[in-house]
Amino acid sequence: MNLSSDKEVARKSLLFLNTFLLIVHVIFLLFFSIAQVTVMAIMNIFSVISYGAGFLLIQKSKTNHQIVITFLEIMIHMFLAVLCLGRDCGFQLYFIGCAAVVFYAEYFSVRLVGRHIGAVFMSVCSGILYFIALSVSRNVGVLYPLGQGLQNTLMILNSTAVFIVCIYFYSMLTRIAAYYEEALSRQANHDKLTGLVNRFYLIDHLQQIFDAGKMKNYWLAIVDIDDFKMINDGFGHNCGDFVLKSMTSIIESCCGDLIACRWGGEEFVMVGAMPGGAEAESAVLETVRNTVAEREFVYDGNRIKLTITIGAAPYLENQTIDDWISAADKKLYIGKHSGKNQVVI
Ligand code: GH3
Ligand code: MG
Ligand code: MG
Repeated sequence: MNLSSDKEVARKSLLFLNTFLLIVHVIFLLFFSIAQVTVMAIMNIFSVISYGAGFLLIQKSKTNHQIVITFLEIMIHMFLAVLCLGRDCGFQLYFIGCAAVVFYAEYFSVRLVGRHIGAVFMSVCSGILYFIALSVSRNVGVLYPLGQGLQNTLMILNSTAVFIVCIYFYSMLTRIAAYYEEALSRQANHDKLTGLVNRFYLIDHLQQIFDAGKMKNYWLAIVDIDDFKMINDGFGHNCGDFVLKSMTSIIESCCGDLIACRWGGEEFVMVGAMPGGAEAESAVLETVRNTVAEREFVYDGNRIKLTITIGAAPYLENQTIDDWISAADKKLYIGKHSGKNQVVI
């Protein structure tokens, strides 16, 4: 599902509910007019007007008003319907549907206008009215007997309508939950500036490979931009960010199957299996280094030249992940203290 914005989903769901209920009430209006159930026919004229007005309220972002009007309309309509037509037509089912869907309506309200609508209160009211309607109907009896055939038809139509609304809203709720779960996990695992996975994700990922005993041929390289502080100091922090993003593109274009990670600050890590050993690893890292050294980073009319230093180490048997990272860091340190702009393996 493409959830471009949660507000859009909430608005769409509300429009779906309003349209659906408008159609249902137009059908009821025709049905009750033909069946000469005058009270319900008149009630449905008001219902159709209220759902017509519902579109205007949604358009004007008066979501809360629309939800409350819908709720009241359903309560009054269904209460009257149970009294007039009895329990065998299934109008009481809307109270149950409403008691559940009102929680999703609360979600609309919070997303769209940032306010709660008192879903628990509404749900409890719906439940109480369900029992009152059934009990009054039992004592008063059916005011407009329709005959078995019509009662059965209404029971099927009403059950279907309640099913459709419940299935639609609960499937939307599940999708929204899955969407947010994915979005949150993406946020937790990725660096916002560069879009690369972050250090926490990488360590977890390496731990999984480590636990599975599949570290053979693995190499880890730490890439550090030389004198990056001077970029920030000389051209501003935004320029520094621009360089970090450009660096990301270069690393990604060179890294093939290796995982690229923003380790922190102006440091990146490239990690993965390198069956070709030191020679293959060195070739990849030299390509990255050369590409950076040859590139002119143009920002705000400034032409900037940069270099990087890289320290890389193979995974050695019985090493911990921390030992492995330290080994690569030591190589980086050597590179930084022997002139920078080099790959140390
Ligand atoms: P060296 O060659 O020894 O690596 O020197 P350096 O200047 O690259 O390293 P140093 O650790 O002295 O400075 C790193 C700078 O990176 C300092 C910090 O302000 C900057 N930095 C860290 N994260 C970001 C960021 O997300 N955006 C920008 N623009 N700068 C950052
Ligand atoms: Mg650094
Ligand atoms: Mg640096």
